[in-house]
Amino acid sequence: MRNWLVVGVLLLTQSQCARRDDAPIIILITVDSLRWDVLGAYGSEHGLTPNLDKFARQATRFDRAYATSSWTKPSIVSLMTGLLPSQHLVLMSGLKVHLNRAEQFADTDKKQELMQDVNQRLGRLSVVPPHLPMFQEFLSGYARGAFVNNPHLHAQFGFDRGWDSFGFFPSKTFQTGTMYANTPVMNGRIREFLANHKGPKFVWAHFNDVHYPYGPLETYLSRVRKTEVGFDLTRYDMGMHEQLATNADQDTVSLLFDFYAAGLMQFDANLGQLFQELRQRREYDRALILVVADHGEEFMEHGAMGHGNNLYETTFRVPLLVKLPHQNQPFVRGDVVSLIDVGPSILHYANRLDLSPYSGRSAPLVTESRAGKGAVGALLSNDLRHLQTLVLGDEKIVVDVASGHIDLFQIHGDHEVPLENQQRAKALETKLLAVVGQYNFIGLVDQEPHQHSSDPLIDDHMMEQLRALGYVE
Ligand SMILES: [Zn+2]
Repeated sequence: MRNWLVVGVLLLTQSQCARRDDAPIIILITVDSLRWDVLGAYGSEHGLTPNLDKFARQATRFDRAYATSSWTKPSIVSLMTGLLPSQHLVLMSGLKVHLNRAEQFADTDKKQELMQDVNQRLGRLSVVPPHLPMFQEFLSGYARGAFVNNPHLHAQFGFDRGWDSFGFFPSKTFQTGTMYANTPVMNGRIREFLANHKGPKFVWAHFNDVHYPYGPLETYLSRVRKTEVGFDLTRYDMGMHEQLATNADQDTVSLLFDFYAAGLMQFDANLGQLFQELRQRREYDRALILVVADHGEEFMEHGAMGHGNNLYETTFRVPLLVKLPHQNQPFVRGDVVSLIDVGPSILHYANRLDLSPYSGRSAPLVTESRAGKGAVGALLSNDLRHLQTLVLGDEKIVVDVASGHIDLFQIHGDHEVPLENQQRAKALETKLLAVVGQYNFIGLVDQEPHQHSSDPLIDDHMMEQLRALGYVE
């Protein structure tokens, strides 16, 4: 792993101040579970994203952007640290199994013991390691505000580092329709932050509108669905979602896609409003704005629903739209880029790249030349599987870490097709090991935890929120 000169670099950046007149406003929007192919800008004809499509007409659209995992935490840590999951190791695999076991022993010593086990043994794999710098730490001189509502990104997992203001917005209730329906609430806080800071400012907002259970359904469902749902919508919660998503037939898959579409319409409408307010304040034009997803979402394309199950293009490839300050023309980029390129690119535009640990590294969203010649690696580690992947141009290899089983694919447009070629498989496996590295899950679990406080990582409140996300049954 890279040897970071953290202390020296931090001291250096603290002595710098962004020049108020030319420092761009930077807005990073991460959208949980947003598929790239549901956006009109990427060719969808569903008409769900008029505001994103309008945004894309003055932005650069990356057609081959990849996450580093297919679920939230490892992907967002990669975005913040510029490291692959096999390097940052924030994987939290095994959590669901442990939490479910602990839940069976409500209010007993056994539960306490199991919860301690979750917090201690798996703590190492759930918290951003304190020695790994996150790119926002190098934007001193900027007013930095983070606004997130996914419990995986809570302050207690280390995501509050480097912000002047870190807002976590749990849903008010976990009842139907209100779980993630807080984009308007978050927008209010973002608006306040932007209005209160006149100088250089950086906002990160993570929106959960299209994370399951999808919605809200009341406002937007009738616009995308013309047939009856067949049950009372207020009954659609996490439990019902899981019931529907398990062994879903074609009609159920199409119903759930309509729910997803309704959530997406809400997100798009609220994003449009935020952009409109920036225009009214004459800040839109000079802003650097990035919209990206942490992973996609699948609707049985590969035998599963949701995300975090595999590393196919449906969940591993993500939308990425970047509007540079004063950009008013659309551009399309077809080269392979990754979430790990986002941080260095933001630092480049803020004139901080050379002051950061990314110094000397290319900022591929700017320069088109990616170190590693277009290769992006990823790791999916969940309770059931540990997969590593490497995309190199139009080829893709997926290795099952436990069995050593290798799948080789050729990427054709929006999907991959299996390829039989032992020699290529061997060559790509060698490259994968060079880029992604050896991965030893068993060895990791026994490492010392790095908690950044003595509070338990997962208390009853966090447990309730993780249940709402489907991480505890
Ligand atoms: Zn996510």
